[in-house]
Amino acid sequence: MTIDQASFYNKAKHDYKNFMLQYDYWIFDLDNTIYDYNLGLFRRISERMTEYIVNFFDIEFTDALNLQKEMYKKYGLTLRGLMIEKKMDPEPFLKYVHDVDFYDLKKDYELKTLLKKIKGQKFIYTNASYDHAKNILVSMGILEEFEIIFDIKDSNYIAKPDYKSYDMMIAKFGLDGNKIKRSIFFEDTARNLKPANELGVSTVWIDNDFNLEEAKTFHQYIDFIGSDIKTILNDMTEN
Ligand SMILES: [Mg+2]
Repeated sequence: MTIDQASFYNKAKHDYKNFMLQYDYWIFDLDNTIYDYNLGLFRRISERMTEYIVNFFDIEFTDALNLQKEMYKKYGLTLRGLMIEKKMDPEPFLKYVHDVDFYDLKKDYELKTLLKKIKGQKFIYTNASYDHAKNILVSMGILEEFEIIFDIKDSNYIAKPDYKSYDMMIAKFGLDGNKIKRSIFFEDTARNLKPANELGVSTVWIDNDFNLEEAKTFHQYIDFIGSDIKTILNDMTEN
């Protein structure tokens, strides 16, 4: 059930008071959440996926792109679909697609300062590989701010929004019992917020144009909306 845009964005006017006291466990998606999607970094990863599929199956670009989209739609992760339906080996795929240039990803001292203000534990929960997460976090100068990185191998290549992935994430971060209610999760892909929200985690959707329609459909699972990670952390840590 979708809602109109104005009501959807009214969710952004939540009271950010006492966030630091309410949450002990801060969980962040990586791509397009920790860095701005306008950088185009994730688009370059996606282009390398298409390239890999072209070369691997020796098919035309358009067919590769269609296959990529179909697998993503069906399994929530292109790689997962290729593993199941095409018996693809995940390791060479991950190595190839994440071998992107990080030239536009700079040290982000402002984000580092904001992350430092959070007294709770901070985690990364990504559908990408550990190496990719590490490359990004090192480039931005914020790797040491995060206690644990949960990657696609940790979930046996089962991706968000599959519920099994969340169970494994919760086990790895040790969020048992009441801890789940003191957890908050930041994501740009709205459908990935649904399982987390159902488990009792508070959810923040990072606004972006390409996912807006989906976000409106999943609005009941979104507790907060922020334009970008720095603006929202600034609001949350200030009150
Ligand atoms: Mg993302």
